[in-house]
Parts: sequence; C-alpha cells; structure tokens
Amino acid sequence: MSDMTMTAAVEAALPKAPFEGRHLIDGIWRESHDGETFDRISPSHGILVSRSARAGRVETEAAIEAARKAFDDGRWSRISGKARAMFLLKVADRIEANVERMALLETLESGKPISQARGEIAGAADLWRYAASLARTMYGDSHNSLGEDMLAMVLKEPIGVVSIITPWNFPFWILSQKLPFALAAGCTCVIKPSEMTPSTTVILGELLLQAGLPAGVVNIVLGFGQPVGALMAEHPDVDMVSFTGSTAVGKAIAAAASATLKKVALELGGKNPQVVFPDADLESAADAITFGVYFNAGECCNSGSRIIVHEDIAEALVEKVVALSKKVAFGDPLNPETQVGAIISQAHQEKIAGYVADALAAGASLKLGGAPVSHPGLPGRFFAPTVVIGVTADMAIAREEVFGPVLSVLTFRTLDEAIALTNDAAYGLSAGVWSENVHTCLAFARRAEAGTVWTNTWMDGFPEVTFGGYKQSGQGRENGRYGLEEFLEIKSVVMRVGRTRANWVRG
Ligand code: NAD
Repeated sequence: MSDMTMTAAVEAALPKAPFEGRHLIDGIWRESHDGETFDRISPSHGILVSRSARAGRVETEAAIEAARKAFDDGRWSRISGKARAMFLLKVADRIEANVERMALLETLESGKPISQARGEIAGAADLWRYAASLARTMYGDSHNSLGEDMLAMVLKEPIGVVSIITPWNFPFWILSQKLPFALAAGCTCVIKPSEMTPSTTVILGELLLQAGLPAGVVNIVLGFGQPVGALMAEHPDVDMVSFTGSTAVGKAIAAAASATLKKVALELGGKNPQVVFPDADLESAADAITFGVYFNAGECCNSGSRIIVHEDIAEALVEKVVALSKKVAFGDPLNPETQVGAIISQAHQEKIAGYVADALAAGASLKLGGAPVSHPGLPGRFFAPTVVIGVTADMAIAREEVFGPVLSVLTFRTLDEAIALTNDAAYGLSAGVWSENVHTCLAFARRAEAGTVWTNTWMDGFPEVTFGGYKQSGQGRENGRYGLEEFLEIKSVVMRVGRTRANWVRG
C-alpha cells in the first residue's frame, strides 16, 4: 500500500469557509423556518465542509406543494420535448463548467478520491445529455387493426410529482441517473440528498436556475430521513418515489408509500459475485477483482465483494489479488494520485471491522489487512485493503453488504455449484463471470439472478444501458430507455371513426 499524505499544496486547496446550503423551494433559496442547521465534517480531513439548513415538516410540505402546483399548471409537464431537451443540454454544459468546484465538495463530504469525483461529475453531464435525447424521442403506440371504425393510441404522460431520495456514496452521479430522466418525462420533483453529502445537490440547484428552470419544477430540501424522507414517501400529493439507498430504508419507503399506492422505484444494495473459471485470463480477472472491491472504498452498491473461484486456481488468483492490493494507492482523497479514500463515518468503520472479526471467529482467515488504518497527517477514518479467505456461504460476510474494502473468497467445483452460490443471496444487483469460453459466459449470464451481468469485465456502464436489481436489490430500472419509462404513466385513448356505435338500450 503506498502512503499518500497531506501535502502543503493539498492543505492550501482546502476551502477557507464551509459551504452554506439552503433549501430551494418554488424557485427561492430558503433557510429553515426555525433556523435549524446541520454540519458535515469531512471523513478524511476532519474539517467542517458544509453547514446546511435542516428541513422539517414545514419546508418539506412547502416543497411538495410547489412541485404539485408546477406540475398541475403545465409550466413544465405540457411544454414540448424539444424545449425540455434544450434545457437539459444547457444544464449539462453548466455541470461541466463547474466540475472542479463540485468535485472538491464531493470529495470532502464523501471521502472519495478527487480524481474519481471529477470523473463522476463530468460523467454525470453525459447522463443529462443522454436524457435530453430521450426527451425528443418519446413515443407511445397506435392500434390501427381494431376494425375500420376504430383507432386506438397509447399515450405516454409524465407520472407527476416525483420524490427523489439519494444516498451518500455517489451523490451527484445517482442524482443524475434520476433527475434528468424525470425532467425529460415532464415530471416535477422534490429532492432530498443524503445528510452526509448535501452540497453538490445544492450547487445543481444553482445551475438549474441559471439555465432558466421555471420555479417549482425542481425543489430541494436538506435534512434527514425523519421527518423529511418519510414525508416525501407518504405524502398524498407525491405520485412517485425514486429512491437509492439501503434495502432496509427501501422497505420502509415502500411501506410508507403504500397508503396512497404511489409508484416506488428502488435501487438498493448488492452482494455481487465475480465467478472465475479455470480457463479465465487470471491477470485480467485479478485486476478487475481488485478494482471491483476497492473502488469507492467498497462503499458501492456494485462492489464485487464476493469472489467465487474454481478451487484449482483459487490460490493462484488470491496471490495475484493480494499482490495487486498492495499496489493500490490508499490515502489522502485530495491527492490526485489516490485511488481509495476515507470511510464515510465512525459507525460505518466499526461495522466493517465487525464483519471481518465475525468471519475470523467463524473460521475464515485473513490474507491481507483486516483493520482500520491511519494515514500520516490526516485525522480521518480509513480501512486497510482486506482479503478474507476460507469464507463459507453461511457467514454474514458472504451474505450481507459489508460496504468496505473487504473481499470474501469462496470456491466452487462445477458450473452448477457456481450458479447456486451466485444465486444464494437475498440481493441480485450485479454479477460477473470470467472465462475464455463463450458458452460458459452465456450459460452463466442466463442463469445468474442479477440485473446486470458482466462477462470478462467489471462495472462498465453507459447511459444507454439500463441498470437495476433483481430480488431485494430493488425494483424498477434506471438509465437507457427504461430509465425514462419509469417516470411515464400510460394512457389508452380509444376512438370510434364515424357514427358506427350500436346503441346498447333496445327500442
Ligand atoms: P440509506 O438507506 O441509509 O439512506 C439513503 C437516503 O435515504 C438518505 O438520503 C437518507 O437520509 C434517506 N432516509 C433514511 N431513512 C429514511 C426514511 N425512513 N424514509 C425516507 N428516506 C430515508 O443509504 P446510504 O447509507 O445513504 O447509502 C448506502 C446504501 O445505498 C447501500 O445499501 C448501497 O448498496 C445503496 N446504493 C444502491 C445503489 C443502486 O443503484 N442499487 C447505488 C448506490 C447506493
């Protein structure tokens, strides 16, 4: 592991004052009515990064009311797809022009490396551009074979007011998998970012106003799950909730939304396996496994935290992964060379350590790491790259999201056994297969219970390719054309051509 310590240059790059976040309600920036705020201390540098207004019921209801009014009067929902697309393109340009400012805040609030944050913010601009293309190419169906006197159309309409609730691990990226698609569809929105990473969502609010968004179309409330997120899920004036976060909170949201039977789209956790067959390109697999488990410090829904490797090559593969792990640049997120940064909170750091300790107590053993580490000059929380071998399918470390830089290694002998281990999970977000045999890859891809299957690669994603989970990894899809469809309601219009309708009442 190479050491990346805080240099004088990096220290100089730290903001001199905290970012001040306010709610955006009906086109106006507002403090909370009671003056309440909350702070975010950087998990890597220990500084106060942001102070945000803290919403309660008053602000949340005002935001929902503004979104409702904006939807119902058609200021956004009834304008042309072309006008919506032009707006989304303008926002994309503004995001690109603000990458540096947003990346710095994203890094300091989340602990992720600055080079990665820059990539995510710039990449998010492309999601906005792709959504713009969908805004202009939305269409329904027509039925022209119902008989000479009948014609029917299936119209796609915006679903209405959407509550968007996002997590802390990819704050701006995940928002951009939702908001531009909802706006392309013609919806109006209320957004609540995670209380740990609110600031880039606030900056996006500024960019939306600069680009000329009508008041009330996008509203932002800053605060916690209770009461803000819960109200956004249950409120009768909200038509849909689009949520990314933990499975536990996803279930609470589905329950809160059930009283009004509003639509709920959920992107939840994962326990994603990469299955490695004996004929795989081991060098390539080892690199992708190393990337898959340490990317975003493992705090990633797509973390490849479970390796299922054929027993003939298990030792060789683990040796390669351990060797590569030692070369990964863990350290100061503000150093542009750093690949893995800090852990989001103290409680989370303890949870990660707990999973490792429980696995060791149950008979697994450590090949690398296993404990928190510190980096010279940095007050923050970090966890060592960790490889645990001898893991069995019944251990919590093999079944639950660890959400840290911790790899569990299991072994198999036959394809059927590999598939059984893959599918032996409550989650079904993504899975990977490594083999030079296309038949093995396809057989695996068809039988794996996962929303995405990567073959001989890991975590490649595109705005065009839809994403989402099987089983308890969620419901609904994001990105691609399906990502737009989520925000559309479907209406059939059935028309009679001419006066051919026979009267029902006789005589
Ligand atoms: P979390 O579920 O704790 O919080 C997510 C959001 O929900 C936050 O904004 C939080 O304030 C809010 N919230 C909390 N309680 C709520 C309630 N009762 N009602 C409404 N909102 C509430 O998740 P997190 O810790 O921020 O993020 C990590 C989780 O997100 C992991 O499980 C990860 O796998 C998942 N995730 C999934 C995807 C995906 O695309 N499938 C992507 C990223 C993260």
